[in-house]
Amino acid sequence: MKILVINCGSSSLKYQLLDMNGEKLLCKGLVERIGIEGSRIKHDTTGKDRVIIEEPMEDHKRALGLVLKALVDENHGAIKSMDEIGAVGHRVVHGGETFSSSVVIDDEVMKVLYECAELAPLHNPPNITGIEACQELMPSTPMVAVFDTAFHQTMDPENYIYPIPFEYYEKYKIRRYGFHGTSHKYVSLRAAELLDKDIKDLNIVTCHLGNGASVCAVQGGKSIATSMGFTPLEGLAMGTRSGDIDPAIIPFIMDKEGLTFDEVNEMLNKKSGVLGISGLSSDFRDLEEAAENGNKRAKLALDVFVSRVKKYVGAYAATMCGIDALIFTAGIGENSSYVREKICEGLECLNIRIDSELNKVRGEEAQLNKDLTSASIFVIPTNEELMIARDTLELVTK
Ligand code: AMP
Repeated sequence: MKILVINCGSSSLKYQLLDMNGEKLLCKGLVERIGIEGSRIKHDTTGKDRVIIEEPMEDHKRALGLVLKALVDENHGAIKSMDEIGAVGHRVVHGGETFSSSVVIDDEVMKVLYECAELAPLHNPPNITGIEACQELMPSTPMVAVFDTAFHQTMDPENYIYPIPFEYYEKYKIRRYGFHGTSHKYVSLRAAELLDKDIKDLNIVTCHLGNGASVCAVQGGKSIATSMGFTPLEGLAMGTRSGDIDPAIIPFIMDKEGLTFDEVNEMLNKKSGVLGISGLSSDFRDLEEAAENGNKRAKLALDVFVSRVKKYVGAYAATMCGIDALIFTAGIGENSSYVREKICEGLECLNIRIDSELNKVRGEEAQLNKDLTSASIFVIPTNEELMIARDTLELVTK
């Protein structure tokens, strides 16, 4: 079966068409600037040259219409007719407490998705828009929602309840949800495959280190703790997000600087993290280069980032009583040998020993420990789309 995977942002749309017979990628693309002047699609079909389609796209429905047209195009498409698409898998950021696994989308599911929108006001509304646009254009094709939060619904209450008055959990569902679940699940399953072991017997720490970053403790294949929280703002220092800070800093700065809630929210989400510390960039390539050239704040930003990751790795080693495998994934995790080496430095007490030569890889699957009696350390490029397609296939063929 061929499955279309859709990941809708507020002004962007990423897509992949996969042939699940052999899990082959047929097409992938990115639509940018939906609803803004200069809309365009970067469309790549396996084995063909990239095409850029520049056309006005006032909304997601128009964008999706053009994507579907590109998929069946005689020259740069991958299929003859839209009827070849057996199902569509949608990435949905927040599934609240209702969804602990992927679901076939029906009216009832849509109702709950609208209810969850309050929990992820930046992410869920564009996800819903993408689903509705797809439903209009492909009314008889089954659709599945795959949630970023679902993998973490296996956490025990002590790992998701915040120590604030319990009534806020009861009234507003304020608790840790965790994100990047599809990625943590994919790389942990892949690590078990690479180790040729049953995932049920493994304690794995997965580090999804991208512009947004989170760490997860995966015990026996289940997420038991993760660093992101009620929102993706908690946990590690990120590209532009603060991660964990003393909550008392917020009213203090609001008072001193006369900031509104929106302004402080913007500061914590867009102006903090390694960008905030360095005053230079949120991109680790820029920071590594600047630090090498003697920029002290760039070096400090990298040090803070690394120190936070180490803290979580240590915490999760304690939570699981040991680590069998440590995984690095996403933009920084897959590409930065500097960051990986620094994170592992001094973790010999946890049986983590990275080999500098093996660590010289970029963007490809690799094992980074030479000593096979140590914990296994892997770079595993994430593949959330494949995970979404697998769930979609499973649900529509059940
Ligand atoms: P993601 O959110 O997973 O797409 O990751 C994007 C981030 O990965 C960028 O902002 C960079 O900080 C980081 N990144 C990408 N390539 C490299 C590289 N070669 N070296 C260091 N960091 C990189």
